[in-house]
Amino acid sequence: MNIVIFGPPGAGKGTQSNLIVQKFKLHQLSTGELLRKEIKNNTDLGNQISSIINSGNLVSDKIVGDLIKKYVSDKFYKDRLIFDGYPRNLIQAKNLEDVLKKYNQKIDIVLKLSVSLETIKKRISERKSLEKRADDSEKIAVKRYLTYENNIKPVIDFYKQSNLLKVVNGEANVSEISDEISGLIELIKG
Ligand code: AMP
Repeated sequence: MNIVIFGPPGAGKGTQSNLIVQKFKLHQLSTGELLRKEIKNNTDLGNQISSIINSGNLVSDKIVGDLIKKYVSDKFYKDRLIFDGYPRNLIQAKNLEDVLKKYNQKIDIVLKLSVSLETIKKRISERKSLEKRADDSEKIAVKRYLTYENNIKPVIDFYKQSNLLKVVNGEANVSEISDEISGLIELIKG
């Protein structure tokens, strides 16, 4: 069972990924986390990418492709990966298919946590009393949400075409969302 999970910032993707990892004994592969680790460890790759990451741009498809290949090719992780933060564009989605195929694997399900912009705004305003610059943080959060949704749309359409996409209602509470996701995964597992 290999899973891809998508969700805009603030949708609770991290929480849900952790729950799935525990319940189904999967390994979470977050390209953002792997890249941050390279920077922290001062590796050659880390030094090469730190300015790109700090400026908020994406690193090259080759760099992230090489990173995920390490895991896909490793028998230890075979058929138990949950991809988080990857793929970010169509080239990466196709690369992922190719590399999985090469190692006799596939994606079994693509989960998209769907949350409206209104809900994201509401969640921020509920935190307002705790933060000093709430208006700024709302503006930034809205921008991140819109950028995310625009960029990821072609990738979502790609998975829709191959019938792998399941849209999960991210408006519900944590345990309701988790139950819905678990039910979908159980169905696929058969
Ligand atoms: P994230 O934690 O997923 O938001 O990723 C943090 C940063 O890592 C992003 O802003 C990108 O610079 C880089 N990154 C993570 N995943 C990818 C990816 N699939 N393709 C390109 N860059 C990525």
